[in-house]
Amino acid sequence: MTGYLNSIYADNNLPSSLLRRSELVREMQELEGKTIHCFTCPGTCCTQAANSMLITPIEALEILAGLNIESFDEYALQSLKDRLNETIKSYRLNVEIYTGKKNVSEFRKTYTCPFFNNGALGCGLSRSSKPYGCLGFNPKTSEDNGKSCSSNTALLENRENEFIKTEDSANAQIRKDLGLYWTKQNIPQALLDVLEKIKN
Ligand code: SF4
Ligand code: SF4
Repeated sequence: MTGYLNSIYADNNLPSSLLRRSELVREMQELEGKTIHCFTCPGTCCTQAANSMLITPIEALEILAGLNIESFDEYALQSLKDRLNETIKSYRLNVEIYTGKKNVSEFRKTYTCPFFNNGALGCGLSRSSKPYGCLGFNPKTSEDNGKSCSSNTALLENRENEFIKTEDSANAQIRKDLGLYWTKQNIPQALLDVLEKIKN
């Protein structure tokens, strides 16, 4: 996993996972410094109430690397896969709904994220590997509890513009190497698809 990810970084001149998220993480930290944070929220944007996050292949690889998947024994790996499959089953994420449009793989359904921990613990992923969209979605006031949170679209667009060439190139390589049919996918399916192709 790490070796493959490093080769993707090198082949595409792609900066590190943290560097490409640094402005989003900085914004989040600045908000927290003003007591604008998620600690008292039930996790509206991470649960079926509002979460429909889709990620790219490089984001999926970085989540798995951030979890240190290489250190997992067989039991831990199977537990993770079971959790991902359970989310897919519970929210019927593998059932495509015909919309009359061709690109159904990016059709958004809401689901409770498999990395969401109830209560103040919130997201179980490190900020250095969290999906860009999750990092860019924050409350606006203290004790907001999900009422008026929104995406910082300017910051997200700036990030995307800065890295679009290298990320597009990296995603194309991963899709080709791993035989992925999608450009964006819900978190559990994206991770399972990558795990199926990369064992270590
Ligand atoms: S990755 Fe984290 S922040 Fe994003 S939806 Fe899942 S639990 Fe929430
Ligand atoms: S971003 Fe908003 S909805 Fe999401 S966990 Fe934080 S306070 Fe709750």
